[in-house]
Amino acid sequence: MQVVAVPCLKDNYAYLVIDAGRAVVVDPSEAAPIEAALAANNVTLGAIWATHHHWDHTGGIADLVAAHPGIDVVIGATDADKVKVAFTRTVNDGDEVAFGSLRAKVIHNPGHTLGAVTFLVEGCAFTGDTLFCGGCGRVFEGDAGMMHGALMKLAALPDDTKIYCGHEYTASNLKFAAAVEPDNAAIATRLAALVTPSVPSTMAEERATNPFLRAADPAVISAAAAKGSQPDPVSVFAAIREWKNNFK
Ligand SMILES: [Zn+2]
Repeated sequence: MQVVAVPCLKDNYAYLVIDAGRAVVVDPSEAAPIEAALAANNVTLGAIWATHHHWDHTGGIADLVAAHPGIDVVIGATDADKVKVAFTRTVNDGDEVAFGSLRAKVIHNPGHTLGAVTFLVEGCAFTGDTLFCGGCGRVFEGDAGMMHGALMKLAALPDDTKIYCGHEYTASNLKFAAAVEPDNAAIATRLAALVTPSVPSTMAEERATNPFLRAADPAVISAAAAKGSQPDPVSVFAAIREWKNNFK
């Protein structure tokens, strides 16, 4: 299995997941860069997996299906009716999605949207706008407890899990992380070594540097307390998410 990041729009990533000459595309926001990447890699399109319903993750689906009729189009069950796309399958937590010899596991991550999912295949996690490299998505449809729970589910993945997220926001995410934890050397090191594209990161890096996975860490609890937060992880998560929403 090979993963190719395909930059789309201003700062989105779609991904080709290539197996035996065929590709799944994850989160095609627009069709043209995907068609170019398919041609450049000499592979045919076999399926589309959408991590959530937002237009900048699904906007290219109709054109791709028109050009490649009959392919599977997969999305989390709760998000399927939020966008006008003829999905062929909706999935729930723990479902398996097959593609050739590959088997992806579906992890339901409500919070950014209620039906957001991560596709986990061969140690690669396609997290959409739930977990970013160094950050997390905004809580648009769920609440802080839901989003924190979703992130904790992802944080339980093995250290070497590769994180392929939906946007290139890593530099600004790590600058915020450094503001939350000025004494965390791993954040400073990661920021100094940052290159674009920053995907994939690893879950070990995220656990060490991503403040949204660190709501139980004393330094993050203390930074949140300075913003008026209680010390429990959901309150800490909510406080740093609110802080990040207004961080320049
Ligand atoms: Zn989104």
